[in-house]
Amino acid sequence: MEPLNQLTEWVNQSRNIVFFGGAGVSTESGIPDFRSVDGLYEQQYDYPPETILSRSFYVKNKSEFYRFYRNKMLYLKAKPNAAHNKLAELEQAGRLKAVITQNIDGLHQRAGSKEVLELHGSVHRNYCMSCGKLFSAEYVLESRDTPLCDECGRDIKPDVVLYEEGLDTATLQKAISYISGAEILIVGGTSLAVYPAAGLIDYYHGSKLVLINKTATPMDSRADLKIEGKIGEVLSQITVS
Ligand code: NAD
Repeated sequence: MEPLNQLTEWVNQSRNIVFFGGAGVSTESGIPDFRSVDGLYEQQYDYPPETILSRSFYVKNKSEFYRFYRNKMLYLKAKPNAAHNKLAELEQAGRLKAVITQNIDGLHQRAGSKEVLELHGSVHRNYCMSCGKLFSAEYVLESRDTPLCDECGRDIKPDVVLYEEGLDTATLQKAISYISGAEILIVGGTSLAVYPAAGLIDYYHGSKLVLINKTATPMDSRADLKIEGKIGEVLSQITVS
């Protein structure tokens, strides 16, 4: 059977699908990923992105961190694409239980998905490191240099997991629970190179592991169904019955 027909058949037979995705899910919305040829890692900065987006760099060089962060991580005009929309439709139809994402852009929620587990946090939550007051991404974008709390004047930090920081334990546990109980796990738009997130796939014990990616990944040989292509183009071809 054609891979797309197989995927459509599986999807329409299940009420227990879990999706696990990464930056490739949002490239069709105009947000660059990290590891594609036109991704952030191919662009030139004074420091590599992993260095700038690390906890120790943030602590020592807040101005430089925010210069990069505002330019390269905040795409507040981006809109959900066909992949986000189809996943929201599948949840609405009672087929998909959860979206687990490494993305920080909030586009799944904007498309209407309700159960979204953000492993790496969100640019839309920013908090004062002293009093805990919450701020919008727009506030961070419009502020100069290091954004400061308008009440106590202390630094604001995005609720985004930086390199050298741990993932939220409760979110991770919930993700493991969804993946280990899933009938179908659809993995898409991720290089599966960032741990511990990529290791979550090991918790899937079913026989319908679907991998949708533009390029090869280290886990291709484990897939029961592999579709090479753009995830928005692929998912939009599924008719939900
Ligand atoms: P990655 O950049 O390492 O890999 C992206 C993968 O998606 C690549 O394998 C690429 O070939 C594939 N891809 C790109 N466009 C695609 C498309 N349209 N359809 C299918 N596949 C496509 O991304 P990652 O694995 O998510 O890991 C990088 C880290 O970067 C994550 O932790 C994430 O937090 C962060 N990040 C997030 C965003 C975002 O929120 N949109 C953007 C950049 C990076």
